[in-house]
Amino acid sequence: MNELRELYQEYVLDHGKSPRNFRAVEGATHEAHGYNPLCGDKIHLQLRIEDGLVADIGFTGNGCAISTASASTMTEAVLGRTVEEARAHFAKFIPMVKGEAKPDLDELDKLSVFAGVSEFPMRVKCATLAWHTLTAALDGKETVSTE
Ligand code: ZN
Repeated sequence: MNELRELYQEYVLDHGKSPRNFRAVEGATHEAHGYNPLCGDKIHLQLRIEDGLVADIGFTGNGCAISTASASTMTEAVLGRTVEEARAHFAKFIPMVKGEAKPDLDELDKLSVFAGVSEFPMRVKCATLAWHTLTAALDGKETVSTE
């Protein structure tokens, strides 16, 4: 678990500083705004879904390093995947971050580093914000709040 914690810190630093897919999406078909009042994190997530696939995804907004790193990782994890796969990732990610399920390194790949967040209950909502926003966008909801 120590290795995972180190990996987590490196990962949050890296993705928090230079988030991937931090941009608007042209021709977006789905979008949602996510807000975490506990920390003040705000993200605007946009996706372009074609034939059931996430053809493009990007986010903008302001958030702490953890929420930014989590959003960055989430966009990398679901880009090019089917909507069903994206939802399946969500279903595994949330209990892992809350510490209710053990990380499955093989299956979740880089998302597993966020299991480290479960040691910091105050930050769980930062880490899950992007995923709740993804689900809201897929469900056609305009806004979502973690509170
Ligand atoms: Zn935060």
